[in-house]
Amino acid sequence: MQTPLRPNLVQQAFDPDFFRHVGHQLIDQLADYFQAAQKGQTMAVMPWEKPDERTNHFQTLLEAAPDENAQDFFAYLIAQNIHTLHPHYLGHQVASPAPLNALADLLASAMNSGTGVYEMGSPMVAIERVLIKNLNRVLGYGPQADGFMTNGGTLGNLTALLTARQARQAREGLSSLPKPALMVSEAAHYCVDRASKVMGWGEAGLIKIPVDAQYQMRADLLPAYYEQALKEGKTIVAVVANACSTATGAYDNIEVIADFCEMHQIWLHVDGAHGAAVIFSDKYKKKVEGIHRADSVVIDFHKMLLTSALTTALLYKNGDDSYLTFSQQASYLWADDEEREWYNLGKRTFECTKSTLGLKAYLLWRTYGPDLFAQHIDYLYDLGHYFAEMIAQSDDFALPVAPQSNIICFRYCPTEVPKEELNALNSFMRETLITSGAFYIVQTQLAGQLYLRLTLISPFTTVATLEDLLQNLRALGQQYLLENRLLPH
Ligand SMILES: *Cc1c(COP(=O)(O)O)cnc(C)c1O
Repeated sequence: MQTPLRPNLVQQAFDPDFFRHVGHQLIDQLADYFQAAQKGQTMAVMPWEKPDERTNHFQTLLEAAPDENAQDFFAYLIAQNIHTLHPHYLGHQVASPAPLNALADLLASAMNSGTGVYEMGSPMVAIERVLIKNLNRVLGYGPQADGFMTNGGTLGNLTALLTARQARQAREGLSSLPKPALMVSEAAHYCVDRASKVMGWGEAGLIKIPVDAQYQMRADLLPAYYEQALKEGKTIVAVVANACSTATGAYDNIEVIADFCEMHQIWLHVDGAHGAAVIFSDKYKKKVEGIHRADSVVIDFHKMLLTSALTTALLYKNGDDSYLTFSQQASYLWADDEEREWYNLGKRTFECTKSTLGLKAYLLWRTYGPDLFAQHIDYLYDLGHYFAEMIAQSDDFALPVAPQSNIICFRYCPTEVPKEELNALNSFMRETLITSGAFYIVQTQLAGQLYLRLTLISPFTTVATLEDLLQNLRALGQQYLLENRLLPH
């Protein structure tokens, strides 16, 4: 029998000199890019190409002979991708990542540590532990709190709700609950709806509490909805509070909701994917007053905290609860501390192989201190309030609601334009604006009306950027009105 030899392509794929060469090139490319993107002057924020054309480009490359030239390939990717660092990036809630993220990812990928099992990446597991412990302290939890990093707010919310169910079953000594249900604001993120479906609770398992004119949950209605649910034989397992909501950035009143949950011994989960980050800010943390009373909280670093995706923390007020989620035996028999093994995170996470999720946020914290996060949030929220003031003072734009965060909805609505034209008008403006590459913004529906929606997220967006945006939008609005003969002559 022949001795197997290492195949030449595999040998080639591990060539350290090639890595050194291409790696240095890429770091230079990225450093140049960071410099240019911050200014954003000559760069389209979102270089637009139709999905099929983009796909063809990469299919063609793959069909050609294998090619070691990575520099041009990287250059294309950098140039053609959306630029979340660009001052004109005002779209979805995705961070402009600080450059250090890229280095942490490089290292994490090189080491390929798993964080589900301690032995598979002990420094990375320890880093995650320290990040979580410090985050819990900033949030106001006591020493018994715990948690872990997971792959996104969506998975974090689902995991927290699975824990809530297990904890309730444990308390009642049951292996299943009669008609389990959640109470959520009708402005909750769609992932809560999905979580309910994944858990098999269906439509009946999601009780939507109406919102007020500020898009905050009507917490005063919780008792009535609760009574009704009990009459229908339902078990209210958890209430989910928004901090803040995705569409309008509204913060629910956590103190009032926590009072209700405590009175009825219901799990309180705070979906703070976007806005719980304000715990770092002395100026804005009052928006989440009472958050330390929640049984669980989700916070995404990859939204407001300058970290690239996915970097989500799921925090528990009582660390013991986190061991219940996936416990397979009678869950009221808590395993002893020995068997819990905090450092084998896979016992508590959905993920089996879990990548290095805490390194980037830890590195930012260690390098610049937590004030980095505070300063960024203060700037974004201050800018949000400033922009809202600009809109309030203009006579051709309007706000549906005073913004509470860096998420702002607004629309163009000059008095002479009939109301039924406004959706088409604003839709045209957004479409034309973003495909031109000038700005990236999104849109949302509120009470059947289409609104333009901004998330202020780039540290390089300024008041001048926002003035420029309004000028661009006005020009497009006028163009639409002219073309559609909606302007008085
Ligand atoms: C973004 C967001 C989510 C989803 O988080 P991902 O990290 O994108 O999975 C959930 N809830 C709220 C309120 C959000 O803003």
